[in-house]
Amino acid sequence: MIVVMKPGATAGEIGAVIARVQELGLTPHPIYGEEHTVVAVVGNERKIDKEIFEVMPGVEKTMVVMHPFKLASRTSKPEDTVIALNGVKIGGKRLVIMAGPCSVESRSQVLETAWAVKEAGATILRGGAFKPRSSPYSFQGLGLKGLEYLAEAREATGLYIVTEVMTPEAVPMVAEYADILQIGARNMQNYGLLHAVGRIQRPVLLKRGLMSTIEELLMSAEYILSNGNYRVMLCERGIRTFETYTRNTFDLNAVPVIKQLSHLPVIADPSHATGKSELVIPMARAAIAAGADGLILEVHPAPETALSDGAQSLRPEKFAGEAG
Ligand code: PEP
Ligand code: MN
Repeated sequence: MIVVMKPGATAGEIGAVIARVQELGLTPHPIYGEEHTVVAVVGNERKIDKEIFEVMPGVEKTMVVMHPFKLASRTSKPEDTVIALNGVKIGGKRLVIMAGPCSVESRSQVLETAWAVKEAGATILRGGAFKPRSSPYSFQGLGLKGLEYLAEAREATGLYIVTEVMTPEAVPMVAEYADILQIGARNMQNYGLLHAVGRIQRPVLLKRGLMSTIEELLMSAEYILSNGNYRVMLCERGIRTFETYTRNTFDLNAVPVIKQLSHLPVIADPSHATGKSELVIPMARAAIAAGADGLILEVHPAPETALSDGAQSLRPEKFAGEAG
């Protein structure tokens, strides 16, 4: 259930609703919109009579959120969520470009790529220091050293950093270096990890699982939101289908579907969705046309020597040619 406050409801009136929700043994999540404040009521609210709230001063109405995802739903928050990182706004009017190598491989590789993508117009640098690889024998990432190189690249270029965190235990360490914590596709339903990133105040890029439905993606976002971290963006990165020509099947439908169902920003990842560098630009364009708030793209100075995902990585010149 959500309790919609009247425009201009006072802090005292909102506070009284929050207190009443707590008295009833439920969890209140106030969402401060431009016109209305709403208090989302989470928990087993079925037995609660909505009139309890409707008679309270400052309350306009109550509404039942029909979807299983409550805080992520547009019913709870009709206006788009905008995640601000000082200068950069994700989910606002401008498209946000996140770019960089799949993996951080060396200091020079990450610095060179960072400067190249910055000059081409990217505002966020991507790069994995902890890599979830299908094979235990593949490169697993540089770990802490990789985070240090990313921090150095941020210091030098002013780009913000998005990087993956794979375990709940690593969340505090990765959050020290990252501006955005990435939850990889393979971990979309790692509930311990979702709780852990929900309990800190760092924006999260949540990638859709390889075999997950849109509703499952939104339910995973709900874990993060219900723990108190409201700065979540959702990433469509392709799903597994019978098609083998591309690495994954880019579910472009997911972009407008999620934009309709949820207020959270949507980021498209045509690199992992296609697996082929020559397909990345056309599908990036398609994602923009479908309404994506941003793109995350793999760029590598020498894709043929990349330690991961070389086949889908753009050369900096190609990236600059398109981004510019
Ligand atoms: C990545 O971003 O490099 C990555 C591993 O992506 P995904 O989790 O979508 O496979
Ligand atoms: Mn990758």
